[in-house]
Amino acid sequence: MKKYDIIIIGAGPAAINFSRAAQGSDKKILAIEGDKFGGTCPNYGCEPKIFLEGAVRNVLSSQLMQNRGIGQASTIDWQALMKTKKATWENMPAAQEMGFKNLGIDTLHGYAKFVDNHNVEVNGE
Ligand SMILES: Cc1cc2nc3c(=O)[nH]c(=O)nc-3n(C[C@H](O)[C@H](O)[C@H](O)COP(=O)(O)OP(=O)(O)OC[C@H]3O[C@@H](n4cnc5c(N)ncnc54)[C@H](O)[C@@H]3O)c2cc1C
Repeated sequence: MKKYDIIIIGAGPAAINFSRAAQGSDKKILAIEGDKFGGTCPNYGCEPKIFLEGAVRNVLSSQLMQNRGIGQASTIDWQALMKTKKATWENMPAAQEMGFKNLGIDTLHGYAKFVDNHNVEVNGE
């Protein structure tokens, strides 16, 4: 059984901010993530959303300006857009996990559950 002073369950932005605040402490810390390191914001939420929203804004603006100086309104190429999104963000979880490691925090992939007040089980361990 491994022992830690602090176990972070879920490696999203909240965990990242906590980890930065804990930098330089002598605590032994573990970050556990069941899905993608970095959590919702960089993998599913904020950043991919801003990218997709940018494409939609571009189309809507060009539609608004059609025949007012813009000859042809743009359209979404959904397959190409999603391919670009996937390629842009596919390395995000590895980069986010490296961020924890660079702060001296151990990382573990899997869903955590409490066994009791002081014990957490992940992947049967
Ligand atoms: C579509 C969308 C767009 C958004 N856009 C913006 C935006 O533009 N600006 C903004 O400020 N915010 C935005 N948000 C909100 C932002 O993503 C969240 O506020 C932020 O991700 C919350 O961070 P968190 O660390 O609390 O939780 P999360 O990012 O949700 O991270 C929690 C992590 O915990 C993991 N987890 C949960 N239970 C366990 C377990 N038992 N064991 C192991 N791991 C576990 C999950 O897999 C997850 O990765 C958006 C959200 C969505 C869905």
